Amino acid sequence: MERELNGYLLKGGRLIDPASGGDGLFDIRVRNGVVDAIGSNIAPEGATVLDVKDHIVTPGLSDVHLHLMKGLGAFGVDPDIFGVGSGVTTVVDAGSAGHSLLTVFRDYVTNNARTRVLNYINLSTLGGVAGPGFGILADPRLIDEEKIEKTVETHRDIIVGIKIMATGGALGAEGLKPLARARKLGDQLKLPLLVHIGESWSKNAEPVHVGDVLKYLRAGDIVTHMFTVHPGGLLDGNGRLWPQVRDAKASGVLMDVGHGLHNLNFDVARKVLDQGLHPDGVSTDGHRGNRHGPVYDLPTTMAKLMALGFSLNQVVEMATVNAARLLGRSSDLGTLRIGSIADISVLRLQDRAWQAVDSQKGIIPAHQAIVPIYTIRGGILYDALPVQRP
Ligand SMILES: [Zn+2]
Repeated sequence: MERELNGYLLKGGRLIDPASGGDGLFDIRVRNGVVDAIGSNIAPEGATVLDVKDHIVTPGLSDVHLHLMKGLGAFGVDPDIFGVGSGVTTVVDAGSAGHSLLTVFRDYVTNNARTRVLNYINLSTLGGVAGPGFGILADPRLIDEEKIEKTVETHRDIIVGIKIMATGGALGAEGLKPLARARKLGDQLKLPLLVHIGESWSKNAEPVHVGDVLKYLRAGDIVTHMFTVHPGGLLDGNGRLWPQVRDAKASGVLMDVGHGLHNLNFDVARKVLDQGLHPDGVSTDGHRGNRHGPVYDLPTTMAKLMALGFSLNQVVEMATVNAARLLGRSSDLGTLRIGSIADISVLRLQDRAWQAVDSQKGIIPAHQAIVPIYTIRGGILYDALPVQRP
């Protein structure tokens, strides 16, 4: 970490900012935590010059689904590992904390991180305490609307939505009732729902049909694990998208990748993409158990989408402007303008052959890798952490 009082001048990089349509060689100067100049041949005026020739410079990337309560079970990971250590300026925890742990989350996670850490509050009071596969919504007492409402009132600056495990394992005997309660709560609190699909943890549970789940979702809500191979995913038995999925997408429901240990399957992805359904957001579902494979980091997950046919500009769009929109933070995140927060990612696009591996060890050939080099978060510079990527 370095803090330079006179800021930084990123010189000679290729700036890709899909929000503004910008893609070209631009210098960027940051000072006092904000962007203070963008253009050609900008003078340092005392700022420390970083030569980023042959690098990609983007608005700070956002990873919208991870598990960031370090010390909580087998999953919690230090947010700065997938955050500023991976070229990412904003990370979002997906449901580690229910209402009863939200203050702990804020004090020990958000307030101790160098990365901006936002939160999807778990609909269940238990959140991630019990670990995956438990019936965390299977008892009606495990949802406490009043307490969630109070918690959201206090922490609205970091809470961006409500996380729901829409699996047979989590819902148990309650069936779809928790989804109806989440819908009401989302409307009342004006927060989107982030819904996990796919029976990845509770193999013996009766899976929930995605068409039933989607009935409860509206524009702005997010389905995560769109490429899951597990029961309850987007495809029917013949590999066709359930019609309700198309309808949901057309009505404005957003689709997120949520790679994770279990839920990025290249065969499913190809089928979904071939039928014209594209992701809105890209996320790692990063945690302690997938940092060293198959996930690694957000740039590697973005490169896997490139191996599936997306362009660099498209995956940058997903991780910047789309992510900001999905988080309801378009006003301050996801683009670079004079005066915007100096959240910037510096990446290297490498032309090299490698094998992209999915959650089921499926392999597809990839020809370009994305490697994080630096992160500037709020004007402070961080080097990317080493990790043995494929
Ligand atoms: Zn997750």
